[in-house]
Amino acid sequence: MNKQKVVIGLEMHCEMTSNSKVFSNARNSYNELANDNVAPLDMAFPGTLPTLNKECVRKAILMSLALNCQVPEYFYFDRKNYYYPDLPKGYQITQMHDPIGTNGKVIIDCNGEEKTVLVHDIHLEEDSASLDHYSDATLIDYNRSGVPLLELVTEPCLNSADEAIAFLEEMRRIYRYLDVSEADTKKGQIRCDVNVSIMDEDSTTLGTKVEIKNVNSFANVREAINYEVNRQLKLKEEGRYEEVEQETRRFDEESGTTIRMRGKVDAIDYKYFVEPNLPKYKITPEYLESIKKNIPLLPRDRKLNYINKYNLTEHEASLIIKDKDYADYFEECINIGIDVKSAYNWLVGNITSYLNKEDITLKDFFIIPTYLKEIIDAINNNTISSKQAKEIFNECLNTLKEPKEFISNNTQVSNKDELENIIDNILTNNQKQIEDYKNGKTNLFDYFVGQVMRETKGKANPVITKEILKDKLDS
Ligand code: ADP
Ligand code: MG
Repeated sequence: MNKQKVVIGLEMHCEMTSNSKVFSNARNSYNELANDNVAPLDMAFPGTLPTLNKECVRKAILMSLALNCQVPEYFYFDRKNYYYPDLPKGYQITQMHDPIGTNGKVIIDCNGEEKTVLVHDIHLEEDSASLDHYSDATLIDYNRSGVPLLELVTEPCLNSADEAIAFLEEMRRIYRYLDVSEADTKKGQIRCDVNVSIMDEDSTTLGTKVEIKNVNSFANVREAINYEVNRQLKLKEEGRYEEVEQETRRFDEESGTTIRMRGKVDAIDYKYFVEPNLPKYKITPEYLESIKKNIPLLPRDRKLNYINKYNLTEHEASLIIKDKDYADYFEECINIGIDVKSAYNWLVGNITSYLNKEDITLKDFFIIPTYLKEIIDAINNNTISSKQAKEIFNECLNTLKEPKEFISNNTQVSNKDELENIIDNILTNNQKQIEDYKNGKTNLFDYFVGQVMRETKGKANPVITKEILKDKLDS
């Protein structure tokens, strides 16, 4: 058998965040009571008509521009006709003839190499309701009916599961950076159709593609691709390649295999036509411009900046751009004058540990970059040790007080040598208490702190005082 090449094309569906659904005023929010966010239109009540949500249009155009796509002159929709219980109207409003973006490209990094992924198109459509299957019944939840969905279709230009995943991860970052979607697979916000074929490496004709529908996690995308590639390779090896049929399969999570759903001859004829209940909207150059100028620097560009401008390694830069909050926090640190290494180390070290431990995000994190700078400045001018810095960091988070409350200022005694002298004196004059303390009366610790405070008229820095006392008493 000739050497084989794997060819993959992805159709990535991503639910957008928005104030309301794409064609009705029902809320677009996740995880509510079933059938709680439903307008009459979402259930196809007779006489209801769609109204286009402007925010969804803006976000669709934003994505189109971010993916370097061509934007059409008019924004309009097509009707895709089919019946299924999750689609009460009997058709889906989507874009077929003139998607909001065509001929785009995204550059990704995969295993140390740069790759350009070609985007066939990206278009706006409505999500269907969701079905919950039980052994004797199926429940329908219309909350998802009419949730705005962006479908992105790549050209068949990906050549491994690694590349497919790297692309999906890059897209997830872009969706999040642009605030278009939370892009959370756990909430079912990303679902992929994965098209897989194999071909002779030196051939120019694509092989027969198999479509795996509705894969709901990146891990499953990888497994589905690997399974499908091996299945096709094996058939080819055995001289039975004609048994690879152009068909739709589904991924079975339990067995890790793909299972046939339907063949090409059973393909549905959707009888597309222009959606008559919505007008064509002219996309003016001014409107395009207003969207374009608000596109923030995208994750990969930021990563390259961090590598080139700040000398971070690829690995370090990748950690920072994982999340837009992280990248923003990091950049703000640099902007206010924190050095790159300190900003990086605090962010991926103490800050990340704390966020993970408390299960919160940077949005809810008390120590903003200016506070962090107070701590780092104090280390740099030798006011505090790095060990004290860590304690002050924790103290701030426990008390929700600014670091400077715990760091030297004019009214505070923070000089370590000075405090040590005072403490040595106190210890010399309190031998009995030291003995009791060592014999287990550990609450005497506060007595010693009190002595230091009395001696300094309350001006001793408590964090440093406690640290020195601990060192001396517990040694
Ligand atoms: P269809 O007409 O079956 O919808 P399209 O040509 O529109 O097929 O492509 C649908 C998806 O399948 C796209 O993501 C595309 O990249 C992918 N695709 C097309 N041909 C192949 C192939 N030979 N191997 C893998 N993926 C393919
Ligand atoms: Mg589709």
